[in-house]
Amino acid sequence: METAAENSTASPSGKANKPKAEFAIIIHGGAGTILKKNMTPEREAAYTAKLEEAITVGYEILKNGGSSLDAVQKTINVMEDSPLFNAGKGAVFTNAETNELDASIMDGKTLNAGASAGTTNVRNPINLARIIMEKSPHVMMAGSGAETYAEEQGLIIVDPSYFYTERRLESLKRVKEKEAQEKKEIDTESASLNFYDADIKDSKFGTVGCAALDKNGNLAAGTSTGGMTNKRYGRVGDAPIIGAGTYANNNSCAVSSTGWGEYFIRAMVAHDISALMQYKGMTLKEAAHEVIQNKVPNLGGDGGIVAVDKNGNMVAEFNTAGMYRATMNDKGELKIGIYKE
Ligand code: ASP
Repeated sequence: METAAENSTASPSGKANKPKAEFAIIIHGGAGTILKKNMTPEREAAYTAKLEEAITVGYEILKNGGSSLDAVQKTINVMEDSPLFNAGKGAVFTNAETNELDASIMDGKTLNAGASAGTTNVRNPINLARIIMEKSPHVMMAGSGAETYAEEQGLIIVDPSYFYTERRLESLKRVKEKEAQEKKEIDTESASLNFYDADIKDSKFGTVGCAALDKNGNLAAGTSTGGMTNKRYGRVGDAPIIGAGTYANNNSCAVSSTGWGEYFIRAMVAHDISALMQYKGMTLKEAAHEVIQNKVPNLGGDGGIVAVDKNGNMVAEFNTAGMYRATMNDKGELKIGIYKE
């Protein structure tokens, strides 16, 4: 999906410069095997409405001259508070039937960044990531330490049961059943493996993220997730890793990722897109295509990104069947997508 502003940047091939967008915002609600045949009209309408509600919050902030950081944070809050997405309220379950949440945010102007990993009681992890960025000397905090800091900073702390949703618990049960089945098959073949593939590709849906450009030319990006269903051993994905799940740099672009985190960490997806623009002179569209359609699948991973460049060009690139996504440009034009176009 591209917006009308796409291709307005002068590329090395010397494309004409169209006027720069005043501001822009793009969001995702996760990538994966999202197929129309598995979707009910009601479900589709629910996702569409929530995407619109979320992006409109960020759009209004940007339109009124607010910062891209505020737009990113407040937009993500709407999706974190919805059970539809694998972030905040709708976070997936770990193997131990707990919810461990990851988030990160980055300021493209200063290259400041904040991230939290594996928290179990912070209602809006993106708010914690922002506080870590702005109030602490650190970039990343994890587990109980991060929770203590959130409490000290006056963030909303909830009972871990707040994150319970029947739908996500059912997903965990399904993944565990598949895992047990796979283990049986492997045992019969007397192979010795510690990890089973158990539908791992479909264990991650609905991470949320946002990238925005504000009227001052500042870029920001943020990502928030429950990670992967059935994760264990304190597994941390790409979402809180600056450069993998989130990256923003006023000289290039702002990116938020979603997908199979292990591969996104190894491919340094978000930073790689920025680097291809900065060092190789690629457009955002070219850079995103290179990383998502070549680098990540060549390693064996899948997923997607949303990104905006310093001229307000927006790109949603994914190599999965679908990705929940939406854009709004400075004219207030809204585009929402779920499946491949
Ligand atoms: N990237 C997330 C993770 O691996 C999952 C997702 O985006 O759906 O934790």
